[in-house]
Amino acid sequence: MNLPKDFLDEMQSLLNDDYEKYINTTDNEPFRGISVNRIKTTPEKLLPLLPFDVQKSPFYDDGYYIPSDVQGIGNLPLHHSGAFYVQEPSAMSAVELLDVQKGDQVLDLCAAPGGKTSQIASKLCGTGLIWSNEVVKNRANILLSNFERMGIANGVVSSCYPEVLCERLSGFFDKVLVDAPCSGEGMFRKNPDAVSEWSREHVISCANRQLSILNSAAECVKPGGTLVYSTCTFSYEENEGVIKAFLSDNPDFEMGDTGAHFGRKTELPCAVRITPIESGEGHFAAKLLRKGESTTILPSYLPNRDRKNNGLYQTAEQLLSDIYTELPDGILTIVKEKAYLLPKCLPDINGLGVIRSGVLVGEFRKNRIEPSHALFMSSKPSSLKRVLDLTANDTRVSEFLKGLEIDCDSENGYTAVAYCGIIIGFGKCSNRRLKNKYPKGLRI
Ligand code: SAM
Repeated sequence: MNLPKDFLDEMQSLLNDDYEKYINTTDNEPFRGISVNRIKTTPEKLLPLLPFDVQKSPFYDDGYYIPSDVQGIGNLPLHHSGAFYVQEPSAMSAVELLDVQKGDQVLDLCAAPGGKTSQIASKLCGTGLIWSNEVVKNRANILLSNFERMGIANGVVSSCYPEVLCERLSGFFDKVLVDAPCSGEGMFRKNPDAVSEWSREHVISCANRQLSILNSAAECVKPGGTLVYSTCTFSYEENEGVIKAFLSDNPDFEMGDTGAHFGRKTELPCAVRITPIESGEGHFAAKLLRKGESTTILPSYLPNRDRKNNGLYQTAEQLLSDIYTELPDGILTIVKEKAYLLPKCLPDINGLGVIRSGVLVGEFRKNRIEPSHALFMSSKPSSLKRVLDLTANDTRVSEFLKGLEIDCDSENGYTAVAYCGIIIGFGKCSNRRLKNKYPKGLRI
């Protein structure tokens, strides 16, 4: 690979004796990986079902390397089910440093397409709150699609400027992740276009933007909370340089202990760098702590049931009791023609570019409600009245994913469709045939 001389000079001064080792990796195949989604499954259940071998990653508890020549992974039924997320292995390291605990309120500030959000949600496993923000609107829609595929119910997806979001949600989050836009030096093997876009000027402008995003993020971290900064670049200016400038601007923050047993040490004890020498494409992650005692801030968004919508509430409740044996968590709310189940610890979301809060239950059409794909994707099979569970070699799996009608032996009504016990969508069963409700945009 032909790399810019200025970049190579920087790598030489960053890696010293290891520089030659790095150069010897530049023409190798990029590392690829998956992270397991515990909302849907466990590694013990998932790994034997995969049609390729995997190897445990050192960067994340539920991360695995996959062979570099795996083709068509996005078309696998297990991918459609949200059982795993395809992610570069070293990119998983930042969430390891974030140390998410069940019940945490977590912000992923630069979240699209959603790899790290998926890891955070898997760690929360339905508890607490995951707020995923992406400033670029069309990327926020991709984030939402992944959010739904992974079956995340306890979350918010927004498209808002970091400074607006973080000021309004001041001191709200236990954990905040800033996976900042960067010059992408760790993407060179995967995406050669990143090489042609690289320049010294670009590195400096990225560093300025990163510091500004990180300064905004600081505001919404609770006292006693954690802020993790990460990039997929090697550059000193965009990494150590940003952290040092941030700490000098924000004396209420201090360096945390990475706790990392992977990657390369940096001059900062709170940060770790991963290069292809350490078997990752390239990542930097730093852990910062906000000084002070943790305080609990009560959520301020408690939607009132509007009495003029009583009929709509009853229709939505009827739908839920028709689908579930055990009703899902969440506060049923109706906004315009849609019903949602909102997470219990939600702050005031107005004016924050929210494109989804909680789970979309369904959309009202005249006097009835049409359930949503997202509602079934976030449901546990054991909580549902009707599930058509298809085995790995059942031809109905690909027919269903193509949007075709299939045979169904359940009783009449809305029925979840599962692949090896993991829900992939739903349909409406009538006289032993399932009318397919798999969304058109997701069909194979
Ligand atoms: N965390 C994501 C994941 O794991 O899938 C990847 C995030 S990517 C490295 C950085 C994101 O920051 C991009 O989606 C980009 O659109 C967004 N971004 C670009 N400019 C930004 C800005 N000024 N403020 C906040 N985010 C920005």
